[in-house]
Amino acid sequence: MIRIGIPRALLYYQYYPMWKTFFEELGAEVVVSPPTTQTVLSEGSSRVVAETCLPAKVFLGHVLSLVKKCDYIFIPAIRSVKSKVYNCSKLLGLPDMTKAVIPESPPILDIDIDVNKGKPELYRAIYKLGRRFTWSPFRVRRASIAAWQTHLNYQRLMCSHSLTPPQAIEKILDKPEVEPKTYSNHPIPTQTTIAVVGHPYLLYDEYINHRLIHRLKQAQNKVLTPEMLTTEELESATTRLVGRAQWTYEEEVVGAGGYYLESGADGIIGIMNFGCGPDSLLMDMLRRQASRLKATPFMSLTLDEHTAEAGMVTRLEAFLDMIERKKRRQVAVCV
Ligand code: SF4
Repeated sequence: MIRIGIPRALLYYQYYPMWKTFFEELGAEVVVSPPTTQTVLSEGSSRVVAETCLPAKVFLGHVLSLVKKCDYIFIPAIRSVKSKVYNCSKLLGLPDMTKAVIPESPPILDIDIDVNKGKPELYRAIYKLGRRFTWSPFRVRRASIAAWQTHLNYQRLMCSHSLTPPQAIEKILDKPEVEPKTYSNHPIPTQTTIAVVGHPYLLYDEYINHRLIHRLKQAQNKVLTPEMLTTEELESATTRLVGRAQWTYEEEVVGAGGYYLESGADGIIGIMNFGCGPDSLLMDMLRRQASRLKATPFMSLTLDEHTAEAGMVTRLEAFLDMIERKKRRQVAVCV
């Protein structure tokens, strides 16, 4: 059986259930790299120049950890999944960058996804990928339909049950069919709610963010993330704040942040990484909006490979403390 390696980094958090379904339907076995560690990060960093963004270094470390464990590594070049909205250049060049800096990598299975080229081109690209496993276009079609259905279930699960991608991945792979539930009316909880916004590969990689979400939950906060919002909620919040989105990640940062600023989260934490051009711009837009509205405390945390855990924990504690004092003051004014 052909073994396909999938690095647990970058777009893994958005598309893993879909990719896994596609390859398994075509008779392949999927191997995922283990969670990030210091070794993964150091090995990834050693292959590129220092200015490369942290998530790309982590990604290369994951590719290295899959060498000799699989027959192929799947690295798609996802240019655009929405009309005239594009991914950052590092994501477009991932297969080429990997080939250049990791020559010992198993052969790379890549696919060029750009919806702006039209549906026939997209179907051709999927068929070209599927042909590595079968000559039957019907089998490739069946695998694509099953994969797409898994992706829809995955998104619906995160939204309707307020799950993070790692929680949803765990659940959906055991129980693919998920009952649709109401997912646009988010209940107003009584405990402190903290929205964490940013790219999934920063929010859910516990090694690089020093277990931020876990720490927030441990301190009895309810954590909200961009994946818990519907596409419509994200799109309309982005439009209200910046007009038409140009980058894929505007919705995860500006859209989710803007939505939670309006919908009454007690605090918002924006996670960005040092050296990311799009992030520095998007986070600044969000910061300005938070100071315009003057209602919700906002803090941005910048991660890089030198971010000290102690420094991050101190800032987090101070932020939560400030929110607690603000809530106590509001209660005192009301009674
Ligand atoms: S959006 Fe930023 S963090 Fe993500 S891959 Fe591009 S440069 Fe790196």
